[in-house]
Amino acid sequence: MDIKITRNPNPAPIPAGDYGFGSIFTPHMFRMDYKDGAWGEPTIVPYGPFSLDPAAKVLHYGQEIFEGMKAYSKPEDNSVHMFRPDMNIKRFNTSAERMCMPTVDEGLFLKGLESLIDMDRGWVPESPNALYIRPTMISTQVGLGVKASTEYIFYIIIGPVGSYFSGGISPLRLRVEERFVRSAPGGVGYAKTGGNYAASLLPIQMAQEDGFDQIVWLDAKEMKTVEEMGAMNIAFVYEDKIITAPTGDTILNGVTRDSVGVLLNDMGYNWVEEHPAIADVCEDARSGKLKEVLACGTAAVVTPVGVIHYKGADHQIGDGGEGTLTKKLRETLTGIHTGGSELHPEWVHKVPAGENV
Ligand SMILES: *Cc1c(COP(=O)(O)O)cnc(C)c1O
Repeated sequence: MDIKITRNPNPAPIPAGDYGFGSIFTPHMFRMDYKDGAWGEPTIVPYGPFSLDPAAKVLHYGQEIFEGMKAYSKPEDNSVHMFRPDMNIKRFNTSAERMCMPTVDEGLFLKGLESLIDMDRGWVPESPNALYIRPTMISTQVGLGVKASTEYIFYIIIGPVGSYFSGGISPLRLRVEERFVRSAPGGVGYAKTGGNYAASLLPIQMAQEDGFDQIVWLDAKEMKTVEEMGAMNIAFVYEDKIITAPTGDTILNGVTRDSVGVLLNDMGYNWVEEHPAIADVCEDARSGKLKEVLACGTAAVVTPVGVIHYKGADHQIGDGGEGTLTKKLRETLTGIHTGGSELHPEWVHKVPAGENV
């Protein structure tokens, strides 16, 4: 299906300098509306606000999903690449099914991404900055009945973001959350839906007030094993293996997590998906058996953890600095992102040029 394009008559100038995260957007967005049991025409329109009825379901019951992905410029040939967009598209539809929302055709989704990025390709910044991509779906039917909406807007907004590491690599200080839980078996932890993040704001704020960067979530049932971090997955590096929690219905199946697992297997490491017991993690940090801890997600790629705080005590990981494997993984992934690597060319999706320019 062709995408109907309405150009922005007054595109903002491309900003220079420090982009920060998630507050600058390009002049266009992709939009497609769902009504009467079917998706309407796919469009690219000027970026701008929606008009929503105050009784629109999303505003009351949070029937909403999103994705987060990045595209990178390759200066050598002026091309732009997305990283494993197929994974994000599939995950978006998995989230949609859990939240009782319509799925989006994978081919059309990809074409929407390509066309939008191509139109605003001048906004894709140079490495280590990147273009952040935020596909979103909201429920727009008017009515306060608690049931699935019959109307939706699917849209994609994009904008330049700065590097997470612009201030240098500083290993994270994490606090294990001992009171609140993120996600329970049977719940919606595996879906990228707004409510998961709203519920995390209070515990994260409390941890940050106490001087920590982020929190580590434990399993909801026993609060004994490490699940993830709420916007990043987490893995524990031992001499003979790297452990991370298996994905199921409580953990977000990160694209970075999956990529790290593949790269580690490629390098001959033993990537093991089993539940890391928090008591063991702390004990092994003390004894030195635990060599490194790494957090991984689209925003921070792969980032070191320096301290894990649990039951009132700090547990330093290694010498508290960045571990060699963490660094190697980040550099390898960043090389693939920016097109400077021969590894896994199937992960790099070049945005076709010219069709919409
Ligand atoms: C998005 C997200 C991640 C990381 O996923 P990536 O695909 O690697 O960016 C991890 N945990 C949660 C809860 C997330 O929302």
